[in-house]
Amino acid sequence: MAQLFVRVWKNFEIEEVKKHLLFMGDSSGDCANCRAFGLDPWSAKSCPECKTTFQFFTSRRFQTHPGERFSFAKRAHDKRPELICIDYEDYMKAIGDKKARDFFS
Ligand SMILES: [Zn+2]
Repeated sequence: MAQLFVRVWKNFEIEEVKKHLLFMGDSSGDCANCRAFGLDPWSAKSCPECKTTFQFFTSRRFQTHPGERFSFAKRAHDKRPELICIDYEDYMKAIGDKKARDFFS
């Protein structure tokens, strides 16, 4: 039976996602928790700086190369099946909303 990638919406605590999120590029990754950069996106289980363990990934490529989003997600999933894929736009919007709430409260 053919397997396809489909997006699923699920509630997450945005701070928990941020704490364990890896920004993935083709050859380099960044830690969302402490902003450490230059991580190996295909093998880093945890951040060498803040020691957080990665449970999620997203990629700016989802926004900059929308035509490649499913092929990138598939490639990332093949190499890192333990990580949950988070939509970049959803994440950035949620983080922006939280910053606005924190600012005005
Ligand atoms: Zn870190």
